[in-house]
Amino acid sequence: MQSGLLVNSRPMSSLNPQQQAAIKVVNHPLLVLAGAGSGKTRVITEKIAWLIGRGTAPHHITALTFTNKAAREMKSRVSKLMVGRPTRGLRVSTFHALGLDIVRREHRVLGYKAAISIFDEQDRRALLRELVSQSSGALDSDEVDQYAQQIGRWKNSFVTAEQALNSDATLHAESARIYADYSRQMRAYNAVDFDDLVLMPVQLLKQHPEVLERWRNRIRYLLVDEYQDTNQTQYQLIKLLAGSLGRFTVVGDDDQSIYAWRGAHPDNLNQLQKDFPRLEVIKLEQNYRSSRRILKAANQLITNNPHLFEKRLWSQLDHGEPMRVLTHKDDKSEARQIASEIVHHRFKNGSRFRDYAILYRSNHQSRLFEHALREYEVPYRLTGGQSFFGYAEIKDMLAYLRLLTNRDDDSAFLRVVNTPRREIGAGTLKKLGLYAQQRHIGLFTASTELGLAQQLSERAITRLNLFCELINNCAERAEQGQPVEVIRGLISQLGYQQWLKEESKSEAAAARKIANVDELTDWLQRLSEKEEQGATLNELVSKITLLDRLDRDEEEDQQSDRVTLMTLHAAKGLEFPYLFMIGMEENLLPHQNSIEAGDIEEERRLAYVGITRAQRALTFSYCRQRQRHGETIRCQPSRFLEELPQEDLEWPERRAVDPEVKKERGIDNLAQMRAL
Ligand code: ATP
Ligand code: MG
Repeated sequence: MQSGLLVNSRPMSSLNPQQQAAIKVVNHPLLVLAGAGSGKTRVITEKIAWLIGRGTAPHHITALTFTNKAAREMKSRVSKLMVGRPTRGLRVSTFHALGLDIVRREHRVLGYKAAISIFDEQDRRALLRELVSQSSGALDSDEVDQYAQQIGRWKNSFVTAEQALNSDATLHAESARIYADYSRQMRAYNAVDFDDLVLMPVQLLKQHPEVLERWRNRIRYLLVDEYQDTNQTQYQLIKLLAGSLGRFTVVGDDDQSIYAWRGAHPDNLNQLQKDFPRLEVIKLEQNYRSSRRILKAANQLITNNPHLFEKRLWSQLDHGEPMRVLTHKDDKSEARQIASEIVHHRFKNGSRFRDYAILYRSNHQSRLFEHALREYEVPYRLTGGQSFFGYAEIKDMLAYLRLLTNRDDDSAFLRVVNTPRREIGAGTLKKLGLYAQQRHIGLFTASTELGLAQQLSERAITRLNLFCELINNCAERAEQGQPVEVIRGLISQLGYQQWLKEESKSEAAAARKIANVDELTDWLQRLSEKEEQGATLNELVSKITLLDRLDRDEEEDQQSDRVTLMTLHAAKGLEFPYLFMIGMEENLLPHQNSIEAGDIEEERRLAYVGITRAQRALTFSYCRQRQRHGETIRCQPSRFLEELPQEDLEWPERRAVDPEVKKERGIDNLAQMRAL
């Protein structure tokens, strides 16, 4: 054994000396700064195992990442390292999930009731839209976007609604008013949005030393992956939890910072050095992922960006195949050709579908690929895109669930009070709303008050009461146990499936919606089974709100053999043997908005993230023309292709291929087709 270091009786010698050193730093705050594929995430997982191995209780360790997928991957790697040893209580999660846990446990200090609703992006916008229309009568979605963005900016720079009202009075007066209304409503609903999930814990920990003490005591060691993508609030949370002792390890790569639009700033890397003078910095320089050519291409591309830090990256792996650049006449043939390439390549190399990934800049690019892959009978997994939670039927179901756990959630109430139809019309709801406003209570509570009789007809009141009874009964039963059974019962009691059939344009559409609802209940069932004593309804609802479609698919498909289709953003941290980066065109990558805003550097980092996902082979592709919004537009190859080492590219369009080679390839392809 090289160093005598053991993790759970397993030698740590497979790690390089810098990785080993990074694992052993516990008395100083530590930043591991290194390029892609250098084993940063591996440092985190091994360090968790090492900490537990030397006696830190798992429940005192927290590791944070950005996506649920990454968190799950990390958890599974840790369990492999820890076979046979307990990891109970170990927290590996996203920032949001940690935030929710803090908000939940500290709800009293925050002035919230226990059952907190989480508003997703759509709920948030719906509420804003309503507030904007109340205030100005306008319903322009751009306007709503602007308010949403301004409020987001305020929140992420710790400006409360009151502060916004008192400052910036002239410039953003209307936004500040909407912000104040929004905050008031959210509180009345006992609800929080995604920004709040990080912001509230920060404010709470700042204002309440005893709460801070409790959390510092709970989280004795903190690890953060993809640190370069933290925004201001996330950084504050890390700083507060880490305390002056700075018991943390963060790992990151400034060249992979791709969330500027969400407030991430690579300068957080510098900030760390200022805030923690004892910070130790370890650099990893060996890349274990990519062939030498791929690595060289990535390194060369990124030298076109200015750099905060000096980094090196080398690989001992093979030189590898040249990277190919495919040119297509249009987007349809791009999709078809790549689907057919995958079929051939897999056949020739005996590889699996899951060894291939197709990455793109924007979600809309996936559509033609889905068609082509289906045509060629290639199984695929599409991550991102239309969110499962964007479907109306799923939103209905979740609104029911939210109302079951939190009767103050007026937005959930309004969504389902007349879904399926109960003849509770807009007039009734308006009067109910006015009454609730006067009494400073929620709509649900207002529906059950006797005083309402003076405002509404007896029939309207009876209908409202029936609805409230239904919800109360279900909630009571769900509290007694087996919440998923109760939910299933509720769906059938509502006649919801029948209603979907009546409301849908076609039978196929109805069947799809019903299948979605079934999928949701099955998913709840699985989540519930994961908890030893079964989860409470409240736990289930918040768990499911924090997940997204990506996770649902992942859960089902983790082991299945499928080609991956995903955006460059979603691919961060992952690796694939054979990679296609499609739509390598000006206005797609770099994206038109970034070109117009003069921000090419972030797009270049995105391309760098893409290239460094590839292990063995990388193929770029672009079209000469493509369809956008019903128009045919001409395309230029991406400037990033020009920035790559041309000697490592096989770009038939640019370099005439030797006719002999061409002929040989033709024969080879023909033979393969026959064999197929
Ligand atoms: P990214 O910047 O893309 O997130 P990373 O720096 O987090 O990459 P990892 O994902 O941890 O890199 O590691 C990249 C690959 O290298 C993984 O397949 C990992 O198992 C492997 N690896 C890491 N360290 C070593 C090592 N010391 N020896 C062999 N393989 C290693
Ligand atoms: Mg990583």
